[in-house]
Amino acid sequence: MNLDYQVLGLKVGLEIHQQLDTREKLFCSCPTVLRDDPPHYRIIRRLRPTQSELGEVDEAAMFEFKKGRYFIYECYEDTTCLVEMDEEPPHNLNPEAVEIALQIALMLNMTPVDEIHVMRKVVIDGSNTTGFQRTARIAMGGWVDDEEGRVGIQTLCLEEDAARKIKEEGLAVYYRLDRLGIPLVEIATAPDIHSPEQAQRVALRIGQILRATRKVKRGIGTIRQDLNISISGGARIEIKGVQELELISKVVEYEVLRQLNLLAIRDELRKRGVQEVPREIYEVTEVFKNTKSKVIRRALEAGGGVYAVMLPKFAGLVGKEIQPGRRLGTELSDYARVAAGVGGIFHTDELPAYGITQEEVDALRKAVGASPDDCVVFIAAEAEKARKALEAVVSRARYALEGVPKESRAANPDGTTRYMRPMPGAARMYPETDVPSIVVSKTYLEELRSKLPELPEQKVKRFIESYGLTEDLAKLMINSAYVDLFEKLATKPGVPPVLVASTFEYTLKSLKREGVDVSKLADRHFEELFEMIARGRVAKEAIPDILTWLASHPEASTEDAVKALGIVTLSLEELRVHVKSLVESNAELVLSNPGRAHKVLMGEVMKKYRGKVDGKQASQIVLEEINRYREAKSSE
Ligand SMILES: [Zn+2]
Repeated sequence: MNLDYQVLGLKVGLEIHQQLDTREKLFCSCPTVLRDDPPHYRIIRRLRPTQSELGEVDEAAMFEFKKGRYFIYECYEDTTCLVEMDEEPPHNLNPEAVEIALQIALMLNMTPVDEIHVMRKVVIDGSNTTGFQRTARIAMGGWVDDEEGRVGIQTLCLEEDAARKIKEEGLAVYYRLDRLGIPLVEIATAPDIHSPEQAQRVALRIGQILRATRKVKRGIGTIRQDLNISISGGARIEIKGVQELELISKVVEYEVLRQLNLLAIRDELRKRGVQEVPREIYEVTEVFKNTKSKVIRRALEAGGGVYAVMLPKFAGLVGKEIQPGRRLGTELSDYARVAAGVGGIFHTDELPAYGITQEEVDALRKAVGASPDDCVVFIAAEAEKARKALEAVVSRARYALEGVPKESRAANPDGTTRYMRPMPGAARMYPETDVPSIVVSKTYLEELRSKLPELPEQKVKRFIESYGLTEDLAKLMINSAYVDLFEKLATKPGVPPVLVASTFEYTLKSLKREGVDVSKLADRHFEELFEMIARGRVAKEAIPDILTWLASHPEASTEDAVKALGIVTLSLEELRVHVKSLVESNAELVLSNPGRAHKVLMGEVMKKYRGKVDGKQASQIVLEEINRYREAKSSE
């Protein structure tokens, strides 16, 4: 797609949530581990929306509460405690988490606050047992540089992660308390990002800085990015929970497309002179009494009816695609689903289809007094449910006259998004009086500043200079899960750093593509392997076979692998003995043409020992022995 994002006035802000890898949780001494074994016990709670001091009730809070939900919290005897259950006040802020957050703030060029105050932010989805999330602002006003311009960092907050949603069963929502209280940093950029690619680059850059601390958790679910996206004439849309970095540019691109299409639909509706969408709901069960549509028949047999609303002069627009595979009809359907829990809606733009005939469509139009210019939306369900759903459809259709409604949306795996809920009002904050504030002293900050972790670009430079890696390999390595192990191995005598890095970044990836479960390989396997390579016990050509074997025998040692694979190892001493005898039997050539002799002898050596000796080491020994023989002869 070739859109001029500058002209469209695209503005994107990122909000990045990253879990910290601390020993303890933010407000208690429980470990920061997630568990998959069955919980030891469960507690049940129901939350109700609280009024703010001004007496107003959060719209989003009421919205959740009206659904009548209750919450079941899953606990463990040994890794969750009374703090997570809200049976005991929170302990003091975890100093390890505060230190990491301050480090990150300094690396993002931010100004830390003088005193850290913990606040309560109202949360109504049950993901916190207290009904609020504790959060503390750590720093403000920083930046990261990007090729399309500097992007401001507005705030960095230290927060407790929410409980982990396990499942929903009817009105019950199950949450596991293992994740509740794990420290996370929330980093919000200014809306300074002006293209989809820039959004992705800035997220990557911040991610690199976070990982540079080596104190953040890694893996799926440990980092979540929310995007705030708007274009001129559109609306600010919040897209929650993009987990994969690679999806960010696509999500931005598709959201711009969606807003442009919604604006085009609005203009067309205005051109058609649509003033408003009536709220009137018609019962049209009679039209479908002999229907072949299975969905409708099932609903009627369950005692439901068919109910419809009329969208005047909407014909053709409800079926218009606004994102790949998603239409205005999909948006209407999302509103109905979220408001009333219905499976979906029918609309005349997509009919006849799904077992619904042209005759039924004609009868339906007649029943609600719709002309061919109008669109009829209908639902087969129990009366009250259908009414709620259709009211939501009408509200959404009314927004179509204005353009883009302000919403929170959730990202789909393909980069499109779906409606989640109305945009929550500004978060309501109250001071958390149970947790004392912390003064951030100048001396403490100076101390932190003096031992800040290496920035990614400094590390790339060092890897190129100290270890001889190419720039590509250095960049891969600094983002690798094996970066620490790489440095440990690369500094050992006799271990070629490039070989270590390419094993981690190229060999392991190609083995993974071949279906080898490389996650089974332990650090000690690599340590043993490279130690054997350093001693000349194993040639580098044997690495893929050894790692493949170890991945399916993770309990075994590299020594076992070498034996099992029948890798006959040749010591450098044995090799030298063989080379010496080769030199002697080719004495004439060695003396007359040492360059050619080197080639011939290497050919012999590699023919005999391929896979058992390292080519480079063999070449060195052949060279040494040729020179030694020539020197001995010339001094005779
Ligand atoms: Zn605890």
